[in-house]
Amino acid sequence: MIESWLQEAYRSFADALLQGRLPGSVILAARPGVRGGALAARCAKLFLCHSPRGAEPCGECRSCRMFEENSHPDFAAILSSNRESALAGADFVRDVEALLNNADNGDRRLAVRIENLRRLSTFLTESAAAGHGKAAVIANAHLMPPGAANAVLKTFEEPPGGTLIIMLAPSFASLLPTVVSRAFKIRIPEATPAQAQEYLNSQGLSDPVQNAVALCLCGNAPVKAAQLAQEGAVPLTQECVSYLAAALCNQAPVDKAVEFLLARKGKDPVISLTLRELILREFLNELLQYKAHTPQDKLPLLGGLDLKLLCQVPAQRLFEAQRTLRFVCDQQPLIPARAPHALLRTWLDSLRIAAAPGRFEVHSS
Ligand SMILES: [Zn+2]
Repeated sequence: MIESWLQEAYRSFADALLQGRLPGSVILAARPGVRGGALAARCAKLFLCHSPRGAEPCGECRSCRMFEENSHPDFAAILSSNRESALAGADFVRDVEALLNNADNGDRRLAVRIENLRRLSTFLTESAAAGHGKAAVIANAHLMPPGAANAVLKTFEEPPGGTLIIMLAPSFASLLPTVVSRAFKIRIPEATPAQAQEYLNSQGLSDPVQNAVALCLCGNAPVKAAQLAQEGAVPLTQECVSYLAAALCNQAPVDKAVEFLLARKGKDPVISLTLRELILREFLNELLQYKAHTPQDKLPLLGGLDLKLLCQVPAQRLFEAQRTLRFVCDQQPLIPARAPHALLRTWLDSLRIAAAPGRFEVHSS
């Protein structure tokens, strides 16, 4: 079975396929971390199955068996990759597990390579080895460079008969309009909080408070949250938030928070750049929500803090900090080593409540 939050999207694919109204290309809009890759693989398996049972692949025919063994000659997945893994040939695969990992990681620094798209076009025009059509998945299709997508546009617009191209992207708008216009479009809905908690429980993560922290960091994406929790991100986040709150309320020097955020263990940062951005973004977000009267028990990061002082940070500064967050969290290898500290200190200083206008007036009167 596929995860509960994917079932509705799967049913709309299966209905269209079984009723014979499925075009040759499908776009699944799914954020990373919701197992869009698993849905794509299940759709491809159903498409290739010789004798589906209702909306499910039979699991017994030759096609289903080859699919489960990652050896189906009529199935291929293109992954987004960097140059190194592209050279090693690790981005044109039949391996469903590799597809899941690639689709769920969503690293924006990777690309879908033009040579793979060309290979895909050739793959789709060759006759099917198992005689039941061909299916291909492009993970992170939004990372196709526009030139590359144009080069194989004809394949996307009019795939050869008996073939299916499934593109995974975070949104329809992230793909070329010409690609989107002819495709069958399915949006994967967000997991409900109950579905997300249930998934985390199934991964052996049973503390609802910790799970709520992991989920809020990644916009409720269950798989990403499980990964964060398993990597130990939750206690780091909670400690980080207490440093941030103390710094903003002038109960501890800003440098303490900066040091914690940028601490290193050997060569590696204790808090990865990605996690730092997730923590700071959610911290600002929850503080704004609290100021807009969201009850504190609905705010996983700020839940345990005394917010009387902290909520004195003016909303305008929080919005400004959201806008400038990308400068603090951008990876800029050309900046001298001291600069990240200075940048982060300035950014946090701008949020301290002592610096709020009005404080000085109190002192001067
Ligand atoms: Zn089958």
